[in-house]
Amino acid sequence: MEPRVCEATRTVRGMSVTDGAGVRLTRIIGSPRLDQIDPFVLLDQFRSDNPRDYMAGFPDHPHRGIETITYMVEGRFRHRDSRGGGGLIQPGDVQWMTAGRGIVHSEMPEMGGKGEEKLWGYQLWLNLAARDKMVEPRYQGLAARDIPSVRQEGVRVVVISGSYAGVNGPARTWYPVTYLDVRLSPGATFQAPRPEGNCFLFVHTGKVYVGGAGPAAGSATGPAAGHTADTGDLVLLGPGEEVRVEAATGQPEGGFLFLSGVPHGEPVARGGPFVMNTEEEIRQAFRDYQTGRLF
Ligand code: MN
Repeated sequence: MEPRVCEATRTVRGMSVTDGAGVRLTRIIGSPRLDQIDPFVLLDQFRSDNPRDYMAGFPDHPHRGIETITYMVEGRFRHRDSRGGGGLIQPGDVQWMTAGRGIVHSEMPEMGGKGEEKLWGYQLWLNLAARDKMVEPRYQGLAARDIPSVRQEGVRVVVISGSYAGVNGPARTWYPVTYLDVRLSPGATFQAPRPEGNCFLFVHTGKVYVGGAGPAAGSATGPAAGHTADTGDLVLLGPGEEVRVEAATGQPEGGFLFLSGVPHGEPVARGGPFVMNTEEEIRQAFRDYQTGRLF
């Protein structure tokens, strides 16, 4: 029996917003169009070659109740926090920060001058379950060289967390979370067993066909035509046994982030940089921040 291939159930485009001290970014999750994909409560893309769009950065601000996961593709972010931690997030690096009961930090672009104006990266907020919201904060600074990349025919997969083709990502997670960056040569196909929970992909490069083959490849006996997804589309995947994504031909590359997580199924209360279960817990977080008891 052929495994049942997951179909695209919903496509959502991100929204242009300004956040931090004036950073222009695309909010993909956590917008009026798409509040959350439990347990993911925010996904931002920073992608610009104009320093005016991002140099203002994200000066000191708090977090509580979530993990913030920063993945840099190009460019650099310098972070500093209230507990004396800090470092430089460079191309290919991931910073997996558990804010837990609270941390105050800054995230500022640190670009090298002429010829290094391009910033491209992602910040993902992974909600913590009620029982874990007040854990001690921690960082995992994952350097590019420590993040495995699986290379197969026409397929390259960066494994940040979870696994692909038997290779495990280095991030330690509270719950099963898959985070992959997939790059496909024209016409190449990504295939993997569907992880449990909610699954989606965000197309960052080119055009792909989700859940089947491209229209040109269709034949009576071949796989069904997939759902066409373009750069900037977030595609939710339905139930099934196998994830299948084919890159269109006639382009240099198709690429997407692939994410999965098991939903908490708990109430979500948001207040700016805090994500808790109730409005009272949000008010408490603001009181703790204002009185210096957040961390
Ligand atoms: Mn932050």
